Amino acid sequence: MQLSQVGLAVDFHSHSIASHHAQNSIDEMLRAAASRGLVAVALTDHSPGLDNTIYLLAARLQQADLQADLERVQAPDKHYFHTLLSRYAPPPEIKLKLFKGIECNILGPVTTGRSEWIDVPPGLEGQLDLVIASIHEFEHLFDAGREDVNAVLQQVVGQAALDIVGHPYSRRYQVDYVALARVAATAGVALEVNNSYLRYKRIETDVIRSLLAAARQADCQISVSSDAHAAAEIGFHQEVLELIRAMDFPPELIVNRSLESALEFCNSRRQLRQSRVC
Ligand SMILES: [Zn+2]
Ligand SMILES: [Zn+2]
Repeated sequence: MQLSQVGLAVDFHSHSIASHHAQNSIDEMLRAAASRGLVAVALTDHSPGLDNTIYLLAARLQQADLQADLERVQAPDKHYFHTLLSRYAPPPEIKLKLFKGIECNILGPVTTGRSEWIDVPPGLEGQLDLVIASIHEFEHLFDAGREDVNAVLQQVVGQAALDIVGHPYSRRYQVDYVALARVAATAGVALEVNNSYLRYKRIETDVIRSLLAAARQADCQISVSSDAHAAAEIGFHQEVLELIRAMDFPPELIVNRSLESALEFCNSRRQLRQSRVC
């Protein structure tokens, strides 16, 4: 198949104002997506425990009040996700498939005194349409040494109930994409190629090229996403798609290349998560 020049019609990573540091309501995100020609969107608000605003605040306050802010400010709690799952449907005039997902945190050694690798609230693992697990490099979440990051990523992919590794790149850690893509391909987990990181220059283009080359080599699936934090960003995959076309990356490895492939991926992954939870 050929990727359309206008882009992908499914966006697999977005945030509503429930994530606190994002800008728009769910309805506003979906309206923007539909008006832009998208056919499906995954809403993936952050799991409880992450709200970037506290880190921005902490930086401004030179860390002094970090602990107090950690206690005061929360990302959506588990009740938000329960309500999303049980009561929310897009308004009827918005003709768009909504995948109800989460972006949870990959927990590094500093937090793995707990037994979990990722922090999806208990009881939700088998109910969500999509689980993205990402490293967010904040001390209380992930503080692996350089030598640990690859071991953590590979163990998470092999053992945890996740579907996609979100933005698996870092300026602090050297990610071994060849090994990660091999493990992800075996586990059926997709690696995300996150457009926001490229657009806002949070990662170098060469890193994305390495990820794509490793995925192609290992026959590993990828997810292309906007990671939109505002309605104006939903469906923006352009920078990543340019790289994908330039590298002649196989479209059939992109799990959100079409509504059908997105449905197939989400359905099969949810069954797998449910079997792991039980
Ligand atoms: Zn993230
Ligand atoms: Zn995100």
